[in-house]
Amino acid sequence: MLNIYIISLKEIPILFIDLRLINTKYIKAYSLMKNMIIASTSTLYGGEFLDYLLDDLKLHFKHTDTILFIPYARPGGISHDLYTKKVATAFAKINKQVIGIHESKTPKDAIKNAKGIYVGGGNTFVLVNELYKENLISSIKDVVVNGTPYLGTSAGSNICGLTMRTTNDMPIVYPPSFNTLALVPFNINPHYLDPNTHSKHMGETREIRIKEFHKFNTQPVIGLREGSYLKVNGTKITLKGNLQARVFEYNKTPYEVENNSDFSFLN
Ligand code: ASP
Repeated sequence: MLNIYIISLKEIPILFIDLRLINTKYIKAYSLMKNMIIASTSTLYGGEFLDYLLDDLKLHFKHTDTILFIPYARPGGISHDLYTKKVATAFAKINKQVIGIHESKTPKDAIKNAKGIYVGGGNTFVLVNELYKENLISSIKDVVVNGTPYLGTSAGSNICGLTMRTTNDMPIVYPPSFNTLALVPFNINPHYLDPNTHSKHMGETREIRIKEFHKFNTQPVIGLREGSYLKVNGTKITLKGNLQARVFEYNKTPYEVENNSDFSFLN
């Protein structure tokens, strides 16, 4: 039983809660200490891997020298080792060490003990399939809700949304579920492309694909253009990167949102 005492001192009511009686599990569940960067891409045109984010990442990961990297998305089919090396080269520029989760015999423990996590891009189906296979979805969600700093780029950003159904990737493997981490209250479409009115390409525009998504699903979708990213601090979700983002809400005309806007209104 939770004891709550209210006493009044000079007309100011003071509330005492006997903290010994609150189950710490509940304190954790409601602490909402999320600290995340959810980026459209790892690499800007003409730039080096993660370069445009490094200043932010120095701050984001300031409490750790070591980042746990999840290379499961395997861009271009590269091996976990090669992908981890590439990421290590980028993080070395801000004096961080990188450990690939595939090097651990107990990936769940690796996540529990990590002081910073990066999930890289590649194929979202491959990534999600592997996360389910290793039973890591709830482990990642747990530690991120409790404050472990998280970085996601492209596929690693898709998984922060409610589902992976707005990825641009081909379904080259079949994950047990399309549900993802649900750490933000919408879906992400990374590498968002505006329709090119001069193009002779006849395939669907991104906007049409998202319109199709909304025939069967109701959650909002944020189209993140290259160079845009979301900073999540607790319940605050801020657009960064000097560009607008395109928001697609069910049964509404798509609209633009300015840089530095707060997306908590979609909560
Ligand atoms: N293939 C993308 C990536 O770079 C993800 C996507 O476009 O949905 O991870």
